[in-house]
Amino acid sequence: MADAPTFRIYNSLTRQTEPIEPISPGHLRFYGCGPTVYTYAHIGNFRSFLTSDLILRTARAIGWDVTYVSNVTDVGHLTQDDLVDPSGADKMAAALEREGERFANIYDLARFYTNALVDDWHALNLVEPDVRPRATEHVTDQLKAVIQLVEQGAAYATDRGVYFSVEAFPDYGKLSGNDAAEQLQATDRETVADPDKRDPRDFALWKLDDAHLMQWHSPWGWGYPGWHIECSVMGMKYLGERFDLHTGGEDLTFPHHECEIAQNESLTGHQSVNYWVHTRFLQVEGKKMSKSSGTFYTVRDLIAPTPTDDHVPAPIRTQGGVDPLALRYALISGQYRKPFNFTLKTLRDSARAVRRYQALAENAAEALDRDDGDETSAPIGEALQAQYDAALQAMCDDLNTPAALAAALDGVKTIERALDDPWSAADGQMVHDWLHKIDDLLGIVYPATDEAADEPTAADDDDRAATIDALIAAREAARAAGNYDRADEIRDRLDAMGIEVMDGPDGTTWREKVTI
Ligand code: AMP
Ligand code: ZN
Repeated sequence: MADAPTFRIYNSLTRQTEPIEPISPGHLRFYGCGPTVYTYAHIGNFRSFLTSDLILRTARAIGWDVTYVSNVTDVGHLTQDDLVDPSGADKMAAALEREGERFANIYDLARFYTNALVDDWHALNLVEPDVRPRATEHVTDQLKAVIQLVEQGAAYATDRGVYFSVEAFPDYGKLSGNDAAEQLQATDRETVADPDKRDPRDFALWKLDDAHLMQWHSPWGWGYPGWHIECSVMGMKYLGERFDLHTGGEDLTFPHHECEIAQNESLTGHQSVNYWVHTRFLQVEGKKMSKSSGTFYTVRDLIAPTPTDDHVPAPIRTQGGVDPLALRYALISGQYRKPFNFTLKTLRDSARAVRRYQALAENAAEALDRDDGDETSAPIGEALQAQYDAALQAMCDDLNTPAALAAALDGVKTIERALDDPWSAADGQMVHDWLHKIDDLLGIVYPATDEAADEPTAADDDDRAATIDALIAAREAARAAGNYDRADEIRDRLDAMGIEVMDGPDGTTWREKVTI
């Protein structure tokens, strides 16, 4: 291959498209804001996660190492976080109130939706991050950061919480161009802000609340961390005080990322992230995604084998869900920074394109199986290489996915036109190698292998044990309260997890069911 192209990206901080120059040459270290796990992720969320995935794949394609961290927010993201003064209910707690009976407790809810997220992530062929930290597992680190900020005079406590003092950070607003004052004045809020806050722009680092469902002890009393401090702490813990790049949807520019910058730079005394990358919001059929206008889709609405909800369009329901790779293709068919309108037509066209790749992959596999003929039937090796190079070049040009997909599809046409049936083994090998390169770059050819998705980790084991314990405890509570329907429901859930529950004179025990 010719020299690797220069990887350029639009940096929201400098408002320019710039070459990415990793701090450690040849090794990109970056953080992507993950979801709040209070419900299933929607296709807009995944458009943002796909931006991170494409950065990772492009960096690898030009020969860099990558360390990628993407968190799970399982506490602290409030329903009013669009305001700089977070008030309102914790999204997780509000979800438990809505879904109540389905879950043993709030940790069970978080685990359920984290698992659903990871399943969707793998179905859409996103590369698993090197670390997927959860906010609730990093509260001690967050408290240490809050204590340091208070000690150095960048934060202060009131009776309701601990706040970052925006006045102490003169650069506040450098990312978004917004220092919040205007936004606050324009907002007619029902919730009452803390009257002891020194400046309306100050944002919460720690919320005092001894009735909250998730609470930890702090020097100021029982409570829970703010959402912004979570990402600052987890980013720097796994990537260092200085790392290369940080991603998120456009709504996170302010206040979330503005606050992260204020925290990181106050904690370290220097700039900590060089490139900020924001994905423009996806719309559906020309409208903001919304349930009331029928333009809201979760990933599983579209890919589940039997989507049942009425709001899922009839063709998708009757087809038994769309190919997850077609959904991925559709979601990356618009460049991440441009307005993007997701339509059922885009999805249909994407499904057609993905089927063309799959037909080539099948032909290649068959030809390799037949193992007949060591000459290619047409000299298209160079053309295919040029089409791959064009796709890579487009990705290096601020992730120009439409141009990359078009270049790759030119390669598909080259193969379809040139190779005679039946393909020789050499044809099969050439196409197989090319498809794998395209797939490494764009992730649109081969479905994620189930083994990768299902590979158990130590964390999964801990989660599973904790879930079982929580369900057993919830079942015992239901039995004690005489709610036998609920107790049976929980037994069924445990049964589906492969757990046999045994009630004896000395209480309830359980064991893994033996399958023969
Ligand atoms: P949340 O779970 O609300 O924290 O969102 C997770 C990620 O999805 C964040 O990076 C959001 O900015 C992003 N996001 C939310 N809605 C959309 C949308 N319609 N289009 C693109 N990204 C979105
Ligand atoms: Zn974040």
